[in-house]
Amino acid sequence: MFEEERRKYLQKHGFEAMRLKAVLFDMDGVLFDSMPNHAYSWTHAMGRFGLHITSEEAYMHEGRTGGGTINLLARRDWGRDATEEEKRMIYQTKSELFSRCPEAPQMPGAYELLKKVKADGIIPVLVTGSGQLTLLERLNRSFPDIFHKELMVTSFDVKYGKPNPEPYLIGLQKAGIAPNEGLVVENAPLGVQAGSAANIFTIAVNTGPLPDQVLLDAGADLLFPSMNSLCEHWDEIRDTFL
Ligand code: MG
Repeated sequence: MFEEERRKYLQKHGFEAMRLKAVLFDMDGVLFDSMPNHAYSWTHAMGRFGLHITSEEAYMHEGRTGGGTINLLARRDWGRDATEEEKRMIYQTKSELFSRCPEAPQMPGAYELLKKVKADGIIPVLVTGSGQLTLLERLNRSFPDIFHKELMVTSFDVKYGKPNPEPYLIGLQKAGIAPNEGLVVENAPLGVQAGSAANIFTIAVNTGPLPDQVLLDAGADLLFPSMNSLCEHWDEIRDTFL
């Protein structure tokens, strides 16, 4: 069913075939419906330090490291780079506000999809820019027996973060697979860019407020309106890419 998308991907990245072995999942906005909390805590933390970011901009910057996002805003609003101390203070404030938000619910359809992937003998890998300890701890509570610690890429592993392909390249390395042996599942434009730049077939799930076109322009090879919808199509995807 997704033959056309598969053909386009192979042509674009110069591969002859795909052999699906692992799915690399982003976390925020994919496994947890946590982006409203992130957008809230970013807008309020920045505001306390005289930086201004709208909720939609927070969604556009999703996936960037905290320091990277703060510096972009500092350049725009202050006309200079943020100091290391400013980055630390603002990010700490953001983390504190985030930790006081109501616990983000699991994304509907996420656990079902993870169980299907695992049952098919395909390796689930986590690739997140997040360093929020509460969320990472919750991951194993919410999705028991899915992710192994050695198959998780977090902000502690990466230097550049998304949209750099680095986090997904590390994910491939940890899973021991080539780019044409994986799929990426992402909700954010910068995450889609990162997956695509790592030469991996990248599936966008539009779980937030941005227009679909933003994700398609970022390089998504396939787009679904929700994790439930992706889950419903999983068997066809697996059969196309195995
Ligand atoms: Mg995300």
